[in-house]
Amino acid sequence: MKSYIKHLIECQCILKIFENTTKPLYHKFVVFSLTDNETVKEKYVTCNNCDIVHRVYDICKSEIKWGKEGYKSLIYTKEDISFNLANNGKQNISDLLTINDVDIPDWELVDYLIEKNLEGHVVLSKKEIDNDVNYKILYLLKDGKIKIKNELEQRYLWV
Ligand SMILES: [Zn+2]
Repeated sequence: MKSYIKHLIECQCILKIFENTTKPLYHKFVVFSLTDNETVKEKYVTCNNCDIVHRVYDICKSEIKWGKEGYKSLIYTKEDISFNLANNGKQNISDLLTINDVDIPDWELVDYLIEKNLEGHVVLSKKEIDNDVNYKILYLLKDGKIKIKNELEQRYLWV
């Protein structure tokens, strides 16, 4: 069983493009959480749209910490991970994630996989070419090895 999960947390902010819709469409963002026997390890994150602090206490569940800026010191940031990666001789991985503007949950996933010496992957970028989608994927292999692969997926495969 996996010891981590990427799940969606709902905020109470609304993305600009949805501001004029009649039914409010609240913004959702991805969070990386560690799990233990189906329970999620509590953590604090900030919304990637409005920057408000959320206490994530279960899968897809969070409590908004209004006006509690003090919680920000509990949040693991890209800068923290970047520092740790560089300190452990993984500056190249930190650069790769920075160049491709990878979101924080994938930074946390990479950090976790390296720390636990586990295999896994994250999508670095996604480009649409005609009817295909080209993914650039970073694979983390055993013993600290890494590999980048380009994979093509046909978008209308199931039609
Ligand atoms: Zn928000």
